[in-house]
Amino acid sequence: MNCVVPYSIIHLMLNMTEEQRLEKNNRIREKGKETREKRKSQLCRVYRVKIDFSHLNEAQKEHLKMLFVEAKWLYNDALTFMKDHDISEYDTKVVTVQGLDKDHKPITHDLQYISSQMRQSVISGIKSSLKSLSSLKKNDRKVGGLRYKSDYMSINLQQHQVTYRLYDEKHVGLQGFSKPLKIRGANQFWNITGIELANAKLLSLPDGYYLAITTYQSKGGEKKKYKPEIGIDMGIKTTITTSDGRKFKVLIGESERLKKCQRSIARREKGSSNRYRARKFMRRSYQKLGNKKRDAANKIAHELLEHEIVYMQDENLKGWHEGLFGKIVQHSVLGLVKTKLMNCERVIILPKYVPTTKYCPNCGTLKKDIKLSDRVYKCECGYKEDRDIHAARNMILLSKRATCGTQGSNAFGEERLR
Ligand SMILES: [Zn+2]
Repeated sequence: MNCVVPYSIIHLMLNMTEEQRLEKNNRIREKGKETREKRKSQLCRVYRVKIDFSHLNEAQKEHLKMLFVEAKWLYNDALTFMKDHDISEYDTKVVTVQGLDKDHKPITHDLQYISSQMRQSVISGIKSSLKSLSSLKKNDRKVGGLRYKSDYMSINLQQHQVTYRLYDEKHVGLQGFSKPLKIRGANQFWNITGIELANAKLLSLPDGYYLAITTYQSKGGEKKKYKPEIGIDMGIKTTITTSDGRKFKVLIGESERLKKCQRSIARREKGSSNRYRARKFMRRSYQKLGNKKRDAANKIAHELLEHEIVYMQDENLKGWHEGLFGKIVQHSVLGLVKTKLMNCERVIILPKYVPTTKYCPNCGTLKKDIKLSDRVYKCECGYKEDRDIHAARNMILLSKRATCGTQGSNAFGEERLR
């Protein structure tokens, strides 16, 4: 539908007086300042909801697919433009862009689906990439330029209520779509009182389309009741052991199907559609593996952080990779759990030299010859305990002793170790 805007109005729109323009900019600046001030006291969380692909009609499926294709075209066109122009001169309202077809012949693409704000977000994405590249360069880091993309995976939706809108727990509207799309997973945050939605990212992942929504909520006022303190020992082999004797499995196996798939890709001819399909399948399998790992890590970290204070030791995960256990550690979620724990202020990390495995809590001697294969700690005084539980308990004990200062500067018994 075309509507004719009288020339006088266009004239007015374009010719804001200098005074009006400054006032408008000022208003925007003030508003931004206000928001930033408010955000300081809020908790930022990103929630991911999935677009229910099976409930879309053919036109909507095509629309979603083409959004990412057109974003890619626009991105690549802008990169070409940058070869002899400044990116800020790029016109985001273009209707056709130049590209290459699969035989590398020039071709013209029509842009029909991508909305104006989405176009701007593609271009501002390029601008911010350039900015970070140049700041890297200033720090004497070796950087390349931006490369043409063969897949565009993430479109920024700058404003809630404009580029996207959450109608209710089950429906989202996207700019350019005439009808709302069905979503799953909004129940994660829908019932939180006072939650504010900020920008979102439309993602095209191997297993479907997602919306990652940035939200702000007030920091919880009520005090949570915690369980008593806990020590944890991260075993090299398979587990996390707690001082109260629980063991968590941290290994996630690569599925047999995935291994088969890797082999099948190697066999397919380069550039063939079979290889493309196999690669697509593999990406989906890898994402599923990643999901499994994240889920396992979240559950473990959540359970450990139910305790008021968590004591752990700064184990050298990287060193394990290089050593004997590389293959195992690669598919362990230990690293993920560790990162989650270290981000929490209720976690106390003991330095590496604290002899948590060697120290006997009964008589205070340090046992020197403990091999990795010794699964039980035995002391001459008669004390006997599972090696990992023993270490986990010592973390609480030695850490407390250090903070009480009973051993002075050698709080962790470093001297006695030698
Ligand atoms: Zn002893």
